[in-house]
Amino acid sequence: MRKNIVAGNWKMNNDLSQTESLIDDLKNKTKTSNAEVMVAPTFTNLYHAYEALKSTSIEVVAQNMHFAENGAYTGEVNANMLKSVGVETVILGHSERRAYFNETDEMLAKKVDAALANGLRVIFCFGEELADRKSGNHEAVVESQIKNALFHLGVSAFKNIVLAYEPVWAIGTGETASPEQAQDMHAFIRKTLADTYGNDVANGISILYGGSVKPGNAQEIFSKPDVDGGLIGGAALNADDFFAIVNAF
Ligand code: PGA
Repeated sequence: MRKNIVAGNWKMNNDLSQTESLIDDLKNKTKTSNAEVMVAPTFTNLYHAYEALKSTSIEVVAQNMHFAENGAYTGEVNANMLKSVGVETVILGHSERRAYFNETDEMLAKKVDAALANGLRVIFCFGEELADRKSGNHEAVVESQIKNALFHLGVSAFKNIVLAYEPVWAIGTGETASPEQAQDMHAFIRKTLADTYGNDVANGISILYGGSVKPGNAQEIFSKPDVDGGLIGGAALNADDFFAIVNAF
């Protein structure tokens, strides 16, 4: 059975003291669902968050990394640095990284390789823009994003990959994909995987939905058979809202 996962992407929010207080709030919450829970603070707060949460079931994950090993890449952080502060999972390919930091499929393929080679698990994000959805191109766009960044991998690599479908038009906009739109895309993604890698890979991989998931809509989205959890932005910054979503399974 594949895992249900709810991951909070804190993006560029929360300085150290705000991170401490959000973590304190999270520690007071009770998980009643079977979902694995993750939170992704900024780089500067990863070590603190790891230390503060290591005795809990909440995993601390990173929002990004560079593919290079070491060297003259001012401002970047590599896989080994993440591991050295307790991180075991990294989010790659978020649409904000693609849009504002020019991350391409080709670059993301290298990041995925570097993460997996260093023993990190990857949450790989992708999703179409509004224009793609309007022109009916959404499946083709998603298929190419997945194939270009992941389909050079062997079967066994997929044990360490989680997919996160995040339609760009639904991120931070208050506009959610309907549960049916999410289900249709997730089923399409699973079929795309099955066609190349077989049913074991396709049925074993967790596919998260992201884009304006809130306490009020999480349950309906998570009830869809091919939706295995969520990547949560805005609502993950409040412990009550985040745990309402975690417990929506
Ligand atoms: P949102 O962000 O929940 O604020 O829409 C989701 C994401 O970008 O991961």
